[in-house]
Amino acid sequence: MQPKELLDLAEQFGNPLYVYDAEKIEFQYNRLTNAFKVEKLRINYAMKALSNISILKLLKNLGSGLDTVSIQEVQLGLHAGFTPDKIIFTPNGVSFEEIEEVAEMGVQINIDNLSVLEHFGAKHPKVPVCIRINPHVMAGGNENISVGHIDSKFGISIYQIPHVLRIVENTKMNINGIHMHTGSDILDIEVFLYASEILFDTAKQFKNLEFLDFGSGFKVPYKKGDIETNIEELGRKLTKRFLAFEKEYGRELTLAFEPGKFLVSEAGHFLAKVNVVKQTTSTVFAGIDSGFNHLIRPMFYGSQHNIENISNPKGKERFYTVVGYICETDTFANNRRIPEIHEGDILCFRNAGAYCFSMASNYNSRFKPAEVLWKNGKGHLIRERETFDDLLQNQILVEL
Ligand SMILES: *Cc1c(COP(=O)(O)O)cnc(C)c1O
Repeated sequence: MQPKELLDLAEQFGNPLYVYDAEKIEFQYNRLTNAFKVEKLRINYAMKALSNISILKLLKNLGSGLDTVSIQEVQLGLHAGFTPDKIIFTPNGVSFEEIEEVAEMGVQINIDNLSVLEHFGAKHPKVPVCIRINPHVMAGGNENISVGHIDSKFGISIYQIPHVLRIVENTKMNINGIHMHTGSDILDIEVFLYASEILFDTAKQFKNLEFLDFGSGFKVPYKKGDIETNIEELGRKLTKRFLAFEKEYGRELTLAFEPGKFLVSEAGHFLAKVNVVKQTTSTVFAGIDSGFNHLIRPMFYGSQHNIENISNPKGKERFYTVVGYICETDTFANNRRIPEIHEGDILCFRNAGAYCFSMASNYNSRFKPAEVLWKNGKGHLIRERETFDDLLQNQILVEL
């Protein structure tokens, strides 16, 4: 989106403001579906990245399914118009009752530990279940590969597959899918393909599979020079391997993925006004009318979101440390080169689609921002800015 378009939206809807570009979401969705040339492909959007029901609807209309991690996400998905058969439930550490309740709705469940698997299989042997494996793949010791390592809380270790097979035999339960999600950015396609081999090896041992789910980890660039997953190359290589596996397995399978970030990150723009420009002995701070209550990724993960001054896009560049108004360390960017900033300017944070609004809070008793969907050259309000009533909601004043 152009600076002028974003500036007009900030004018129209106020700020801070989240803006999502529908065309960019569509573009990413099509890129993904075009990369994998198999008969049956399923993309389940990981809605924890951005869960506004208008965004869910947009993805539904593109043909996407949904990946959910809580019963409330399932309910939001149903509310947005997804049918239960288009939803997969991939929780970690939730109660047995929650899993049962979701299964009862007709949603595909994905179990990631032995004790729940055994309990569920014994009680509901007829309900098809997908199992989440942990392939224990470390990308050359890369610490970013955070949920695939041996002591991770996610997935059933591939070393425990014999135990899974015993549970299946004892309970006569129906395993219809194998899943992995290493939770890391795919920096190296070969590492992903290596983990895929482990999934194929596991899959061979189950006779009634309908789908193989390779999770996500598709990386998008946040700053200049960042690596981006080469989806097209991954698509070519995995398609070839998947088709060969289908032959070997003896029946057609669905190839499934569950991207969050890849679909919505770059579509998002976060707009905030500069309240104050403050010089200290060594630094020029630009203090904005927002903080980590609205966009926590820089403070939480060290993410480097590109920041543009859309009020002065052609201005002479200077170095700024961009900070928020929260009363503790609240830094968005350190010593960043940005076109000259004046008080009242609007800054735009790029890549603000995934894990931004969905992680926002009311810390410091601030209102959560409004959200706008940009489609066909027009901004559509998809969430109103909060008001004082929202802060009081559910609170009870007792005078004892
Ligand atoms: C969070 C999550 C995803 C999405 O990951 P991205 O990096 O946003 O693509 C996919 N699958 C599961 C099980 C997840 O928990």
